[in-house]
Amino acid sequence: MKYVLVTGGVVSGLGKGVTASSIGVVLKACGLRVTSIKIDPYLNTDAGTMSPFEHGEVFVLDDGGEVDLDLGNYERFLDVTLTRDNNITTGKIFQSVIEKERRGDYLGKTVQEGPADVCVIELGGTVGDIESMPFIEALRQLSFSVGHENFCLIHVSLIPVLGVVGEQKTKPTQHSVRELRALGLTPHLLACRSAQPLLENTKEKLSQFCHVPAANILNIHDVPNIWHIPLLLMNQNGHHAILKQLNLLSIATPPDLQ
Ligand code: ADP
Repeated sequence: MKYVLVTGGVVSGLGKGVTASSIGVVLKACGLRVTSIKIDPYLNTDAGTMSPFEHGEVFVLDDGGEVDLDLGNYERFLDVTLTRDNNITTGKIFQSVIEKERRGDYLGKTVQEGPADVCVIELGGTVGDIESMPFIEALRQLSFSVGHENFCLIHVSLIPVLGVVGEQKTKPTQHSVRELRALGLTPHLLACRSAQPLLENTKEKLSQFCHVPAANILNIHDVPNIWHIPLLLMNQNGHHAILKQLNLLSIATPPDLQ
């Protein structure tokens, strides 16, 4: 199994969910079987009892699981049926650990297997949030144990424009990449959210200061309809960069977009 981890920096609500879903679509279009997991680092067991005013709509899965609305995006984009196990929360982890401890079978291992080639994991929140720290550490350990060729980290970040100067600013992204590195995770690709398309020199600056090759810097600018995003990624050869990182170029069959 190969893993694509999607993290977010600078601010919340950047479009990590839509980006993760679109990456899944792109990989699926290359002939790979894709599944996805959403990690919500909150203490609630699931989204069922959370206020829709604060948290957005609750999405109900076929197995009755009440989960974050991002899972709805995954199901619609990827045409898959997910289960409650595809949404991990801190509450669920605590509950499971405590139940196991009470049963006295704490040493038993939980092994999850699926028929997918690639699992896209979205870590909710923003890198540096205190509640996501245990997940960051777990994902760092995962990246180490599965090895370099099986792990691709895509960091979604914001490129704001300062009104008066009118310049695309890279510093918030530089800081969030530095924060990620300090926690032991190195981004292989950057997915930069911006109002307008990224300028060439913004990309060069990001590449130089974030230590990510220019070909691995993708731009997800504002679009009128989020269904455009998979194509936006493919037009920038995002699939090639991800497949290369995961050493899947020889088995993937990218579609001819002409
Ligand atoms: P996150 O997972 O980071 O909280 P979401 O994926 O839920 O963010 O996206 C937040 C909102 O932004 C959603 O309403 C989504 O439709 C919208 N959005 C995301 N990406 C874009 C884009 N490139 N252009 C326009 N709207 C977008």
